[in-house]
Amino acid sequence: MASIDATTRVPEKRVRELLALVRERNPFQRSRLDELGVGAEAQLTDLPPLTKRELVEDQERHPPFGTNLTYPLERYTQLHQTSGTTGPPLRVLDTAEDWVWWRGRFAYMLRMAGVGPSDRVGLAYSFGPHVQFWAAIEGLHEVEAMAVPLGGMTSVQRLQTVADIGATAVWCTPTYALRLAEVAVEQRLDAALESVQRVICTGEPGASLPAVRSRIEEAFGATCIDHAGLTEAGPFGYPCLQGGGLHVDESEFVCEILDSDMQPTPAGQRGELVLTPLGRTGFPVLRYRTGDVVVNTDEPCPAGHEDRWLPGGIVGRTDDMVVIRGMNVYPSAIEEAVRGVSGSGEFRITFYSEPSGLDEIKLEVELPEGAGARRLQEVMRQQLGLRVRIVPVAPGVLPRSDGKARRVVDQRPSRWTEE
Ligand SMILES: [Zn+2]
Repeated sequence: MASIDATTRVPEKRVRELLALVRERNPFQRSRLDELGVGAEAQLTDLPPLTKRELVEDQERHPPFGTNLTYPLERYTQLHQTSGTTGPPLRVLDTAEDWVWWRGRFAYMLRMAGVGPSDRVGLAYSFGPHVQFWAAIEGLHEVEAMAVPLGGMTSVQRLQTVADIGATAVWCTPTYALRLAEVAVEQRLDAALESVQRVICTGEPGASLPAVRSRIEEAFGATCIDHAGLTEAGPFGYPCLQGGGLHVDESEFVCEILDSDMQPTPAGQRGELVLTPLGRTGFPVLRYRTGDVVVNTDEPCPAGHEDRWLPGGIVGRTDDMVVIRGMNVYPSAIEEAVRGVSGSGEFRITFYSEPSGLDEIKLEVELPEGAGARRLQEVMRQQLGLRVRIVPVAPGVLPRSDGKARRVVDQRPSRWTEE
């Protein structure tokens, strides 16, 4: 079995306490441990990594909350759920103590990002069932910043509010940050963003992509800040302002980076981030497969932070990855190439099959007068090893999104997959 990286900062004692707690009180986790037959001496790495699908199936068998509950239902005060875009939604419960943990983790991230009492932070999203919206507010309260909800507003209303209150930061998806800047230019409201010093990005890997980040920074004249978290596992990643990328908050999360066989990924390679949060015990996940793809490195960051450094942040999602002609293709890598071409706008990636059966990639991209198409094709070939059909389209033609972007269309015949 794989062993936890020796550099981890997590005290072994807390891991043992968590294992003992779930064995005693949590029916879902207890049955997983019993199935392994490992006895009371089980190590964390004895457990097979946990997928979201297992949690969803447990809730389908035991509706509405499933059996991954360590305490009686009366102890739980918060209910959130995942979006369910790729399947039924997952309901995740938190006790009052767990909610305090969320608040503390968000506050820690915000402090590392330099957000404090003098900040007025516009939250440019609708307050849906996703945990991050509500936990963001808690974190802002904890660091004594002013939280300004901008839900239920048009982009123009948001820009006017940002200007009226002199917001120092805006919190949204990277896709929406670019959209908001675009609306500011279209509506001649560029001055509305003058007070903004930070754009805190969430919900998509974009802010980790250098070309996306520099676009956002240029459009806002502000620092772009990335952070990372999941409803199922908690807020695990905070930005490294000095070195770029993210750190995993190893005081609260056991962090592993594993390959597709669930073995440790060698340094320099991409792998899936697998996390065990230690302070959220009401709905615990042990060795949770986040689906986030990161590059494993043992390099320390230039600022000397002790937590594990992910210099490129989250570089993609395992469920976004598509295999084309035997190559792993991450839409985020295509996005990075597109954003690197000056003047490029919105884009759409289509995977399709030729009548011959060969899989192909089409990239529609807004380019002024079609300039840059040839260069983009060259970048794809050289950097990604991909042959991509580039279709330049006029600016403003492709659909815009106010939240997470849906830029990938898969038209290939459906095939059997693991998930
Ligand atoms: Zn650092």
